[in-house]
Amino acid sequence: MSEFLHLLAPLDLGFTTLKNRVLMGSMHTGLEEAGDWNRVAAFYAERAAGGVGLIITGGMAPNKEGAVLPGAAGLFSDKDIENHRVVTDRVHGAGGKIAMQILHAGRYAYSPDCVAPSAIKSPISMFAPKELDAAGIEKQISDMVISATRAQKAGYDGVEIMGSEGYFLNQFLVTRTNKRTDEWGGSYENRMRLPVEVVRRVRAAVGPDFIVIYRLSLIDLVPEGSTWQEVVQLAKAIENAGATILNSGIGWHEARIPTIATSVPRRAFAWVTKRLMGEVSIPLITSNRINTPQVAESVLAEGCADMVSMARPFLADPQFVAKAASGNADAIAPCIACNQACLDHTFAMKLTTCLVNPRACYETELVYTPTDNPKNIAIIGAGPAGLSTAIVAAERGHNVTLFDGANELGGQLNLAKQVPGKEEFFDLVDWYQHQVNALGITQKLGKFATADDLADFDEVVVATGVSPRDPEIEGQDNANVLSYIEVLQGAKVGKTVAIIGAGGIGFDVAEFLVTGDSPTVDLQAWKREWGIADPAEFRGGLSPDGPQPDKPEREVTLLQRKQQKLGKTLGKTTGWIHRAALNMKDVTMVAGVNYERITDEGLWVSDGEARENMRLIQADTVVLCAGQVPERSLADVLEKRGIKCHVIGGADVASELDAKRAINQGSRLAARL
Ligand code: NAP
Ligand code: SF4
Repeated sequence: MSEFLHLLAPLDLGFTTLKNRVLMGSMHTGLEEAGDWNRVAAFYAERAAGGVGLIITGGMAPNKEGAVLPGAAGLFSDKDIENHRVVTDRVHGAGGKIAMQILHAGRYAYSPDCVAPSAIKSPISMFAPKELDAAGIEKQISDMVISATRAQKAGYDGVEIMGSEGYFLNQFLVTRTNKRTDEWGGSYENRMRLPVEVVRRVRAAVGPDFIVIYRLSLIDLVPEGSTWQEVVQLAKAIENAGATILNSGIGWHEARIPTIATSVPRRAFAWVTKRLMGEVSIPLITSNRINTPQVAESVLAEGCADMVSMARPFLADPQFVAKAASGNADAIAPCIACNQACLDHTFAMKLTTCLVNPRACYETELVYTPTDNPKNIAIIGAGPAGLSTAIVAAERGHNVTLFDGANELGGQLNLAKQVPGKEEFFDLVDWYQHQVNALGITQKLGKFATADDLADFDEVVVATGVSPRDPEIEGQDNANVLSYIEVLQGAKVGKTVAIIGAGGIGFDVAEFLVTGDSPTVDLQAWKREWGIADPAEFRGGLSPDGPQPDKPEREVTLLQRKQQKLGKTLGKTTGWIHRAALNMKDVTMVAGVNYERITDEGLWVSDGEARENMRLIQADTVVLCAGQVPERSLADVLEKRGIKCHVIGGADVASELDAKRAINQGSRLAARL
């Protein structure tokens, strides 16, 4: 019997049945805007073939003024309907179901034409919206209804109306953004009129046998957000207006509380959906930081929801459901919630993909075909670059031998997993280990490969990674100086610390040193740290006491030489979280210094080219996080001996190296070998 009985149970909607309780949540990939509809279809069809119960597309604009940014995809014409038909046909052909999300961005639209209930600029946008008049509101409703009917014509099984996350419909609900005095503002009945009217008119237009999901903000996490009573009132009204299913929205985009980042505990908001269970009779979907079938199953088994939404996990592994259903859950590539290749790409106007799975959104281009010429391949280095090469090459039918000087797989991932808030890296390393075993890859661990070991292989891949950069600071050999590797491996660190270098690793080390028990694995502690309360007690789910972090374990100063804000190179969607977390722990951030020397008292620094303001930053321990250089000693020896090799990952280029680039490079090399 499957261990995922609740997850795999069908969901009968009356006029149609979903084959299981798994929803692939809406994600903006950028594929639709790129205009290659075969590629869009390949992306969704691969997920449909992997067994997901219902797919929701990325948000489609109902009109130009509601588009998240100029040029965003929508269903504006008959030609658009034909394009979307390519997608729905392929998904249905693969045995799946797909609904189209209608997303009106309101004041979040990145355009001077954006519209909203009131002319109040959002803190995350540079454009002030125009206040809609009554005719303008009617037009928005009508455009959303037309979108739904076009979606039906394009063959979609339903629509999801985006009513949460601080978008247009959500903006009508709360006085923070709705200051109107007409029938669309003022009392709560008036403020909720628009979402209810949209659902009612969409239902009237599409008839009874079409899925209409409404995504409702259950906890706004912004000041003046909805009360729980208002949430329940709206949910009931949306049900009465004809919705088939309610999906959970968590937090507005402008909220200063993380809701999906890797430091958010797993299933952190399932309790909020559970509160709504029993208030309505249509199915409820819960969402956010659910990334394994075990977690999804527990959420359903505990009665938190009728269905589970997972979005990014379907970038990491399109076969998520199929693998869970076939008793092969350990083979599911985990989404580590890093945002590095998905959301960060979206904000950089790049196509979405996945750090763990570079094939995501590249299904037609990066194809792992079985080889008809199996080779003996040696890979030296079992970090992300080497592991991804090994796995893809072995999947294709090559005989792979993996060498590493350490006794375990994972390389730098084993350092990352020590950082509080990065516990997902444990699962990533475990997954690599599982795949390496399952694919029969020969593992030569605890052994530094020599040129002699490699002479007889058909292909040699050097993935030896990086070494810490030598910052050449006077006194760096003192007993009170440690490298980031020593710190993350558990070396004893004093109570006052100066960290040299504020890149991703400097930030990670600071977090490691100021945090005691990780709040990421303790939901109550995490909610307290960020000031999250029960929305039934406090409007918007914000605690009146604000964030209440635990006391820092140490007094830390984080330094860099550049005269710019610290953390500028961190991920777009996660950098603010790292900065906020360190600020909460009173970490002092100092930019624009020269490192003069290290003494027993600590670190001496000065300012500017004139080296003024010489001063001591008192520190029991100084930690070096000054970047990294390629570890190429083996590659150099091989070159001298005339043994051809491929050099990848940090051994190739150390600057701005991250697991995303390493895995991408390794996978693409293995696809060609
Ligand atoms: P990094 O991001 O390049 O940062 C290196 C730091 O060292 C900078 O603050 C730099 O600032 C300083 N530095 C450079 N040369 C120095 C020198 N000679 N003496 C003293 N300081 C020097 O590298 P990293 O922190 O080692 O991280 C490595 C890679 O891992 C990065 O690409 C990073 O993106 C990735 N990573 C990412 C995350 C994440 O959360 N996404 C976490 C960890 C690591 P100044 O030159 O201004 O002093
Ligand atoms: Fe998950 Fe990171 Fe992949 Fe995005 S890039 S899907 S967050 S693993």
